[in-house]
Amino acid sequence: MGALARTHAESGLARVTDVERYGADDSARVVVHVSRKVPFRVGAFEPDGPLPRVFVDLLDATVDGPIEGHLSGLVRRVRLNPAGEDGARVVLELVRPAEPRVFYLLEPFRLVIDVSGRRDDASVPGRRRVERVVLDPGHGGHDPGAIGPSGLREKDVTLDIAHRAAPILAQELGVTTLLTRDVDAFVPLHERIARANGFNADLFISIHCNASEARGGEGVMTFVFDTAREEVAERIAERENGASRAAAAELLDVLGRVSGSRNQAASLHFAGLLQRAAMSSLGNGYPDIPNGGVKQAGFYVLAGASMPAVLFETSFISSERGEARFGTEDFRQKLADAIVNAVRAYRAGI
Ligand SMILES: [Zn+2]
Repeated sequence: MGALARTHAESGLARVTDVERYGADDSARVVVHVSRKVPFRVGAFEPDGPLPRVFVDLLDATVDGPIEGHLSGLVRRVRLNPAGEDGARVVLELVRPAEPRVFYLLEPFRLVIDVSGRRDDASVPGRRRVERVVLDPGHGGHDPGAIGPSGLREKDVTLDIAHRAAPILAQELGVTTLLTRDVDAFVPLHERIARANGFNADLFISIHCNASEARGGEGVMTFVFDTAREEVAERIAERENGASRAAAAELLDVLGRVSGSRNQAASLHFAGLLQRAAMSSLGNGYPDIPNGGVKQAGFYVLAGASMPAVLFETSFISSERGEARFGTEDFRQKLADAIVNAVRAYRAGI
């Protein structure tokens, strides 16, 4: 076969297989699925044309198309152009200038393009604005999460805790709550924060149960997004990210280079309040549960949050005693109460 007859597939170019778009007034997330890992380059056009634009070139990739899709809010239109000299180009047309943040996820390879036009007001002293809270029950659908020795599934426990916390947040604090899933359904990790950004949430709380191969794992921990390498944190990140050790390590490395969470201090502060509220709530009935403290790890689900965001490991489901506790309404209610109390304290400026 002559070189001129070669098709894209034969030439070894990766293919764009899907594009997901999530738009909101102040933010948007575009997720580009590519058949294999490719290098990429981010750029922006000066806003002298009709609309400011952000683009990402996927080197060594092509797309059947052009493809275009419309969004409302900050991003008006997303376009994909087939391979030029620089590969396939993804263009986001914005209604006003905004900062892009681009990172990728592995297994399968996806490029995540976040744009945010939201001002960071988390440093305003005194009472904090908390009108909307997103609760993110971990796992769901075909992903059960951790499973206890007798078969209790993390995905069911986390959904129940969220269902207990949401009405109390509404009734006692007047806070509007969005659940990233309301039923036993699979929601991709990258979609969870996209929904929170789209909801203009003031807080994002991902709810999980911990697991350990070692016997006797116990304790409550709250994580904030960071790529600091702490062995325990890395192991949990690997499990919660649903990725292999190699992919988790690479993710930490990649996110380390694009980090700079604007809400890091507020996330750490809220995590401290949540730990305190959890120990206080569980102290009445379960005083032996250790305080595992606030930790930092590279969780996909928190990446790209435009609000303070934490991942709450409500304690271990992998031990017989831990599973038995999660099986009681009392224990799950105390964890839901802890979430409510932490939001109350955070809003009060504590
Ligand atoms: Zn989990």
